Amino acid sequence: MDEREPGGAGRPLNTITVAGRELLLVEVGGGEVHVASEYVDGDIGIEVGGAPDDDENAILWANKTLCGREWRNEAPGPDDPTLWWQDAAYAPTCRACLRVVDSWLPKSTAPLGVALLAEVVAEAVVARSSTYVTGVPGEHLEATRRAIRKALRDRGCNSGTHALDDVLVVWSDDAFNALDRDELGASAAAAIERIMAGGSKAEPLQTATAWRTWVADF
Ligand SMILES: [Zn+2]
Repeated sequence: MDEREPGGAGRPLNTITVAGRELLLVEVGGGEVHVASEYVDGDIGIEVGGAPDDDENAILWANKTLCGREWRNEAPGPDDPTLWWQDAAYAPTCRACLRVVDSWLPKSTAPLGVALLAEVVAEAVVARSSTYVTGVPGEHLEATRRAIRKALRDRGCNSGTHALDDVLVVWSDDAFNALDRDELGASAAAAIERIMAGGSKAEPLQTATAWRTWVADF
Protein backbone atom coordinates (compact mmCIF):
# COMPACT_ATOMS: atom_id res chain seq x y z
CA MET A 1 0.00 0.00 0.00
CA ASP A 2 1.37 3.40 -0.86
CA GLU A 3 0.01 6.75 0.17
CA ARG A 4 -0.79 9.42 -2.38
CA GLU A 5 -1.36 13.06 -1.61
CA PRO A 6 -1.52 12.78 2.16
CA GLY A 7 -3.43 16.09 2.41
CA GLY A 8 -4.30 17.78 5.68
CA ALA A 9 -5.27 15.72 8.67
CA GLY A 10 -9.02 15.57 9.04
CA ARG A 11 -9.79 17.28 5.74
CA PRO A 12 -12.92 15.71 4.23
CA LEU A 13 -12.27 13.61 1.14
CA ASN A 14 -13.78 14.68 -2.16
CA THR A 15 -16.36 11.93 -2.55
CA ILE A 16 -19.86 11.42 -3.91
CA THR A 17 -22.32 8.68 -2.98
CA VAL A 18 -24.16 6.85 -5.75
CA ALA A 19 -26.46 3.88 -5.16
CA GLY A 20 -25.06 3.53 -1.65
CA ARG A 21 -21.44 3.37 -2.81
CA GLU A 22 -18.91 5.98 -1.89
CA LEU A 23 -16.74 7.15 -4.80
CA LEU A 24 -13.58 9.23 -4.63
CA LEU A 25 -13.18 11.93 -7.30
CA VAL A 26 -9.71 11.48 -8.79
CA GLU A 27 -7.45 12.65 -11.59
CA VAL A 28 -5.28 10.60 -13.93
CA GLY A 29 -3.80 13.60 -15.75
CA GLY A 30 -5.38 15.23 -18.77
CA GLY A 31 -7.93 17.35 -16.96
CA GLU A 32 -10.84 14.93 -16.71
CA VAL A 33 -12.33 13.97 -13.36
CA HIS A 34 -12.76 10.23 -12.81
CA VAL A 35 -14.03 8.18 -9.89
CA ALA A 36 -12.50 5.33 -7.90
CA SER A 37 -14.56 3.02 -5.71
CA GLU A 38 -13.67 1.65 -2.32
CA TYR A 39 -11.05 -1.07 -2.22
CA VAL A 40 -12.33 -4.62 -2.57
CA ASP A 41 -10.38 -7.82 -2.22
CA GLY A 42 -7.99 -8.26 -5.12
CA ASP A 43 -7.51 -4.55 -5.78
CA ILE A 44 -4.48 -2.57 -4.74
CA GLY A 45 -5.60 -0.34 -1.88
CA ILE A 46 -4.71 3.34 -1.73
CA GLU A 47 -5.06 5.51 1.35
CA VAL A 48 -5.82 9.21 0.99
CA GLY A 49 -5.54 11.89 3.64
CA GLY A 50 -6.88 11.13 7.09
CA ALA A 51 -5.25 11.67 10.42
CA PRO A 52 -1.91 9.89 10.95
CA ASP A 53 -3.04 8.51 14.32
CA ASP A 54 -6.26 7.13 12.85
CA ASP A 55 -4.90 4.64 10.33
CA GLU A 56 -7.20 1.79 11.26
CA ASN A 57 -10.26 3.83 10.31
CA ALA A 58 -8.86 5.14 7.02
CA ILE A 59 -10.77 4.14 3.90
CA LEU A 60 -8.81 2.29 1.26
CA TRP A 61 -9.60 3.07 -2.37
CA ALA A 62 -9.10 0.95 -5.48
CA ASN A 63 -5.94 2.08 -7.24
CA LYS A 64 -7.75 2.18 -10.59
CA THR A 65 -10.65 4.34 -11.71
CA LEU A 66 -13.95 2.77 -12.74
CA CYS A 67 -12.79 3.21 -16.35
CA GLY A 68 -9.68 1.18 -15.54
CA ARG A 69 -6.91 3.76 -15.31
CA GLU A 70 -4.44 4.14 -12.50
CA TRP A 71 -5.19 7.44 -10.82
CA ARG A 72 -2.61 9.91 -9.58
CA ASN A 73 -4.33 12.07 -7.02
CA GLU A 74 -7.60 13.04 -5.46
CA ALA A 75 -9.40 15.78 -7.42
CA PRO A 76 -9.52 18.98 -5.36
CA GLY A 77 -12.71 19.39 -3.33
CA PRO A 78 -14.29 22.67 -2.19
CA ASP A 79 -12.10 22.69 0.93
CA ASP A 80 -8.86 21.86 -0.80
CA PRO A 81 -5.99 24.32 -0.25
CA THR A 82 -4.80 23.80 -3.85
CA LEU A 83 -7.82 25.80 -5.06
CA TRP A 84 -5.48 28.74 -5.19
CA TRP A 85 -4.49 27.53 -8.64
CA GLN A 86 -7.22 25.16 -9.78
CA ASP A 87 -11.00 24.73 -9.62
CA ALA A 88 -12.82 22.31 -7.38
CA ALA A 89 -14.29 19.12 -8.85
CA TYR A 90 -17.84 18.23 -7.84
CA ALA A 91 -18.61 15.38 -10.22
CA PRO A 92 -16.87 13.00 -12.62
CA THR A 93 -16.56 14.25 -16.20
CA CYS A 94 -15.14 11.02 -17.68
CA ARG A 95 -17.88 9.45 -19.79
CA ALA A 96 -16.54 5.93 -19.33
CA CYS A 97 -16.69 6.30 -15.54
CA LEU A 98 -20.18 7.81 -15.83
CA ARG A 99 -21.39 4.86 -17.89
CA VAL A 100 -20.23 2.40 -15.22
CA VAL A 101 -21.91 4.37 -12.45
CA ASP A 102 -25.10 4.67 -14.47
CA SER A 103 -25.28 0.89 -14.83
CA TRP A 104 -25.71 0.58 -11.03
CA LEU A 105 -28.88 2.66 -11.07
CA PRO A 106 -32.41 1.50 -11.78
CA LYS A 107 -33.42 1.67 -15.41
CA SER A 108 -36.13 4.16 -16.24
CA THR A 109 -37.79 5.70 -19.26
CA ALA A 110 -35.87 8.92 -18.65
CA PRO A 111 -32.80 9.43 -20.86
CA LEU A 112 -29.75 7.45 -19.77
CA GLY A 113 -27.87 9.48 -17.20
CA VAL A 114 -30.86 11.18 -15.61
CA ALA A 115 -31.00 8.68 -12.70
CA LEU A 116 -27.34 9.34 -12.01
CA LEU A 117 -27.80 13.10 -12.26
CA ALA A 118 -30.67 12.75 -9.76
CA GLU A 119 -28.37 10.91 -7.31
CA VAL A 120 -25.75 13.63 -7.52
CA VAL A 121 -28.32 16.41 -7.16
CA ALA A 122 -29.95 14.65 -4.20
CA GLU A 123 -26.57 14.36 -2.48
CA ALA A 124 -25.98 18.08 -3.05
CA VAL A 125 -29.38 18.93 -1.55
CA VAL A 126 -28.73 16.70 1.47
CA ALA A 127 -25.36 18.45 1.94
CA ARG A 128 -26.50 22.02 1.36
CA SER A 129 -30.35 21.98 1.42
CA SER A 130 -30.68 23.40 -2.10
CA THR A 131 -29.03 23.32 -5.49
CA TYR A 132 -29.87 23.86 -9.12
CA VAL A 133 -29.45 22.10 -12.45
CA THR A 134 -28.63 24.14 -15.54
CA GLY A 135 -29.36 23.45 -19.20
CA VAL A 136 -32.32 21.09 -18.71
CA PRO A 137 -34.04 20.55 -22.09
CA GLY A 138 -37.77 21.29 -21.87
CA GLU A 139 -38.81 17.83 -23.06
CA HIS A 140 -36.82 16.18 -20.26
CA LEU A 141 -37.70 18.61 -17.49
CA GLU A 142 -40.51 16.55 -16.01
CA ALA A 143 -38.53 13.28 -16.03
CA THR A 144 -35.55 15.05 -14.46
CA ARG A 145 -37.73 16.64 -11.78
CA ARG A 146 -39.40 13.32 -10.96
CA ALA A 147 -36.09 11.47 -10.74
CA ILE A 148 -34.59 14.07 -8.39
CA ARG A 149 -37.63 14.11 -6.10
CA LYS A 150 -37.57 10.31 -5.95
CA ALA A 151 -33.85 10.26 -5.12
CA LEU A 152 -34.51 12.71 -2.29
CA ARG A 153 -37.49 10.68 -1.05
CA ASP A 154 -35.17 7.65 -0.92
CA ARG A 155 -33.02 9.74 1.44
CA GLY A 156 -36.00 10.59 3.65
CA CYS A 157 -36.41 14.12 2.33
CA ASN A 158 -39.45 15.79 0.82
CA SER A 159 -38.42 18.41 -1.71
CA GLY A 160 -39.67 21.26 -3.82
CA THR A 161 -38.65 22.22 -7.34
CA HIS A 162 -39.00 25.30 -9.44
CA ALA A 163 -38.19 25.61 -13.13
CA LEU A 164 -37.12 28.87 -14.71
CA ASP A 165 -36.35 28.54 -18.40
CA ASP A 166 -33.80 25.69 -18.54
CA VAL A 167 -32.78 25.97 -14.88
CA LEU A 168 -34.30 23.62 -12.33
CA VAL A 169 -34.02 24.74 -8.70
CA VAL A 170 -34.33 22.03 -6.04
CA TRP A 171 -34.60 22.50 -2.31
CA SER A 172 -35.64 20.51 0.74
CA ASP A 173 -36.78 21.81 4.11
CA ASP A 174 -36.15 18.34 5.55
CA ALA A 175 -32.53 18.51 4.39
CA PHE A 176 -32.18 22.04 5.72
CA ASN A 177 -33.51 21.05 9.15
CA ALA A 178 -31.10 18.10 9.29
CA LEU A 179 -28.00 20.17 8.53
CA ASP A 180 -25.32 20.54 11.14
CA ARG A 181 -25.33 24.26 11.94
CA ASP A 182 -21.71 24.35 13.09
CA GLU A 183 -20.48 22.63 9.97
CA LEU A 184 -22.64 24.84 7.76
CA GLY A 185 -21.27 27.96 9.45
CA ALA A 186 -17.69 26.75 9.06
CA SER A 187 -18.03 25.91 5.36
CA ALA A 188 -19.77 29.23 4.66
CA ALA A 189 -16.99 31.06 6.50
CA ALA A 190 -14.37 29.16 4.50
CA ALA A 191 -16.14 30.01 1.24
CA ILE A 192 -16.30 33.69 2.11
CA GLU A 193 -12.63 33.64 3.05
CA ARG A 194 -11.74 32.18 -0.35
CA ILE A 195 -13.86 34.75 -2.20
CA MET A 196 -12.27 37.59 -0.23
CA ALA A 197 -8.84 36.20 -1.09
CA GLY A 198 -9.81 35.91 -4.74
CA GLY A 199 -8.87 32.25 -4.60
CA SER A 200 -11.88 30.67 -6.25
CA LYS A 201 -13.61 32.08 -9.28
CA ALA A 202 -15.90 29.04 -9.36
CA GLU A 203 -17.45 29.79 -5.99
CA PRO A 204 -20.80 31.32 -7.05
CA LEU A 205 -21.59 28.33 -9.28
CA GLN A 206 -20.38 25.65 -6.93
CA THR A 207 -23.81 24.14 -6.32
CA ALA A 208 -24.88 24.04 -9.96
CA THR A 209 -25.02 20.76 -11.86
CA ALA A 210 -25.00 20.92 -15.66
CA TRP A 211 -27.60 18.53 -17.14
CA ARG A 212 -25.51 17.75 -20.22
CA THR A 213 -22.50 16.67 -18.17
CA TRP A 214 -24.50 13.67 -17.07
CA VAL A 215 -26.95 12.94 -19.83
CA ALA A 216 -25.51 13.91 -23.21
CA ASP A 217 -23.85 11.44 -25.57
CA PHE A 218 -24.98 8.25 -23.85
ZN1 LIG B 1 -12.81 7.54 -16.01
